[in-house]
Amino acid sequence: MSDLVIPASLLPADGRFGCGPAKVRPAQVEALAASRLLGTSHRQAPVRGLVGSVRSRLADLFSAPDGYEVILGNGGSTTFWDAAAFGLVERRAHHLAFGEFGAKFSKATGAPWLEAPSVASAPAGSRPVLEPVDGVDVVAYPHNETSTGVMHPVVRAEHGLTVVDATSAAGGIDFDASAADVYYFAPQKNLGSDGGLWFALVSPAAIERIEAIAASDRYIPESLSLKQALDNSRLQQTLNTPAIATLVLLDEQLGWMLEQGGLPAMAARTRTSSDTLYAWAEARTDAQPFVADAEHRSQVVVTIDFDDAVDATAITKALRANGIVDTEPYRKLGRNQIRVATFAGIEPSDVEALAASLDYVLERL
Ligand SMILES: *Cc1c(COP(=O)(O)O)cnc(C)c1O
Repeated sequence: MSDLVIPASLLPADGRFGCGPAKVRPAQVEALAASRLLGTSHRQAPVRGLVGSVRSRLADLFSAPDGYEVILGNGGSTTFWDAAAFGLVERRAHHLAFGEFGAKFSKATGAPWLEAPSVASAPAGSRPVLEPVDGVDVVAYPHNETSTGVMHPVVRAEHGLTVVDATSAAGGIDFDASAADVYYFAPQKNLGSDGGLWFALVSPAAIERIEAIAASDRYIPESLSLKQALDNSRLQQTLNTPAIATLVLLDEQLGWMLEQGGLPAMAARTRTSSDTLYAWAEARTDAQPFVADAEHRSQVVVTIDFDDAVDATAITKALRANGIVDTEPYRKLGRNQIRVATFAGIEPSDVEALAASLDYVLERL
C-alpha cells in the first residue's frame, strides 16, 4: 500500500501539516542563513535588538492593551507550567481539561506547596463550560487543545487571573488580549519557528502577582522564576542562553504576519484552510469531523475520524511515502483519525491539494 504514488499534479507544494514542530516557511530559513546573529553573544546589542523586535512585534500582533508586556524564558510551554506553579498560582488553580495539554498543566499545579487544583473535564472532542469557582486565584484553559482540535474562546474568568495556553493558537486565531492576564505559548506552531522558548503576554495584574509571590518566602528555583523572566525580558534578554535561531525564525515570521495584515488576516487564512477540510470530510460518506459541535471545531488543528472500514494508519502512511508528513492523530488519543494543522504559514492552496490527495488515496486503499 505504501507504494501508492500520488500524481505530482495533486500534491501540495509543501507537505508539512504537523502540529508542531510545524512548517517553517523557506523565507524564514533564508533569513536565518543571511543573519549575522548566529554564534554571537546574547548579551550584546544585536541579539538584544532581536529580542526587542520579537517582543514588540508580538505586542503589535496581539494589539496588546496598555500596561501589558511580553516576557520570555527558556524551556517551552511545558516549562512555563512549572514556572507558573512556582510563581503565578498563589494558593489554588482551576483548570479546564479537555485533552492532553490542559490536563498536563493541572498536574503541574498539583505541586505540594499549593492546594489541590480544581479541574473541570470534558471528554476528548468536546469542552467543559467555564464556570466560576470560589477560592481560586488562577483559571487556566487552552485557547486551542492541540491533541483533539477543540478551541475555547479567550474570555475572562470571574475570579483570579485568566491564564491561557496559546501554544497552538498564537498567531492563528484572533482574540481580545484584554480578556486574558497571561497568554503564553511556544513558537513552533502557528508562529512557524523552532522550539525551546516560551513567551507570555502578561497583564498588569499578572505582573503584580509575579512580583508579590517573588517577594514572599516561597522557594523558587532561578531557572523557573517568572520574576527573573520579567526582569531579564525588560533588558531584552533571558536568564541563560536562548536558542538564537528560534528567535531569528520567529522574528521573520512575525514580520511576515504583520505585513500580511496581522492577526485578522492570519485568522482568515486558517479559517479558510480549516473550512476546506471540514467541508471535505462532511462531503464524504466514510469520514466526519471528530468534533461534533461545529462551534468548538478548531480553525488551526483539524481532526477527522474515519469509518472502521477505512484504516487511517494506512492513509497517513501512504501520505508520508508521498512527502505529506505528520498527519497522524495525537498519539495518546487512539482514534481512527487524521490530524492536520492549518496553521497560518500553511498555504490554503496546499490544504486544497491535501484534500485532493486524500481523495486519491482513499479511492485506492
Ligand atoms: C505543543 C503544545 C504544548 C507543549 O509545548 P512545548 O513547547 O513542547 O512544551 C503545550 N500546550 C499546547 C496547547 C500545545 O499545543
